[in-house]
Amino acid sequence: MASVDVEHVTKHYDTADAVTLTGAFKKPPALDDVSLRIEDGETVSIVGSSGCGKSTLLKVVAGLEFPNGGRVLFNGIDVTSAAPQDRGVGMVFQDYALYPTMKGKGNLAYYFQVHDRTDEEAEQRTKEVAQIMGVGFEMLMGRVPTTLSGGEQQRVAIGRCIVRDPSLFLMDEPISNLDAKLRESTRIELKKLLRKFAITTFYVTHDQQEAIFMGDRIAVMRDGRIVQVGNFDDLYYSPANLFVAQFIGSPPIGVLPANVDDHQISIGDSSWVLPVDIAQSVGPGPVRLGVRPEGWNLNAPDGALVPIRHIERIPTERSSFLYGSLADTRVVITADINVPEASDVRATPDWDRAYFFAADSEDTLRVPGLLELF
Ligand code: ADP
Ligand code: MG
Repeated sequence: MASVDVEHVTKHYDTADAVTLTGAFKKPPALDDVSLRIEDGETVSIVGSSGCGKSTLLKVVAGLEFPNGGRVLFNGIDVTSAAPQDRGVGMVFQDYALYPTMKGKGNLAYYFQVHDRTDEEAEQRTKEVAQIMGVGFEMLMGRVPTTLSGGEQQRVAIGRCIVRDPSLFLMDEPISNLDAKLRESTRIELKKLLRKFAITTFYVTHDQQEAIFMGDRIAVMRDGRIVQVGNFDDLYYSPANLFVAQFIGSPPIGVLPANVDDHQISIGDSSWVLPVDIAQSVGPGPVRLGVRPEGWNLNAPDGALVPIRHIERIPTERSSFLYGSLADTRVVITADINVPEASDVRATPDWDRAYFFAADSEDTLRVPGLLELF
């Protein structure tokens, strides 16, 4: 069991051609002053687009890469220079890399062989893990990796990781290689396992939904930095900037060019009177207005005319998404499941749920925060 502190970690991949004659780095760092604390037993999802530094962060925590600056602490103890094998971390990567000639069981027991542990211990632990891993795992133990599906290989890889009794789990896009259906069922299973063990886990993914599902908290990364860490509500209702607002939420938030003048806000040809407190905190001048699908009121007399291109009905939610445009900007509006086909709607932003960003930067001017529902 471990809490983990990543403190001001910076990582340059300083290959010879990445450094200029004066010794400066040509490329921006893969990690740029990254700090993050993970509590004992917590799962934190690390999410961000390809190349933003997720794998590098995991490698620094694992000890596979050495940071140029900063520290990594396990349970408050500095492990920055500790060897990977001394850190007690279990890793599962996208490419499971099972030992191809060994059956499932051999894959799990291998660790005990190379560490000169007894066959009894290997047997005992493998049995325990098979029990923990649940239905059908025992069957995988007798088969070599080439006869297993992607999902089955991934289960064995996780079993191989658990059998070592790690104090920290590092998972780097562990299910990205699976097809959509299998990914869904596997992530449910994985989450159950993480719950059961309460092992501290870094879970890396580029998939927003997966990050939300797996993590107790989510760290959003971009260009080597952590932009924001929080639970879903924090990121959704109080995004640190426009990037996070656009990254979290599906369908995504619509971001409209707007202008605030006195207490009036105008978007394209439409204008509305803003609540006083909002007008004071955002205006005057040009702003960007963010409205999520559920943040529109439909069919108010003062609504802006939104031509609808396409309707997506979501029977399980008893609702629909209307895809349209306003002021040359794509917007998505949540509506009733029975909304009539096509045509136009009149929509007004629900100001309590609206997001305001600066016109010329990603800074937030005002975000709704978690709404008081009671
Ligand atoms: P992610 O996992 O988020 O896709 P990575 O951590 O793999 O991102 O990469 C972060 C940045 O570091 C990228 O610009 C990548 O090209 C660079 N990088 C990663 N590994 C190496 C390496 N071994 N040598 C040089 N550059 C690397
Ligand atoms: Mg990666």
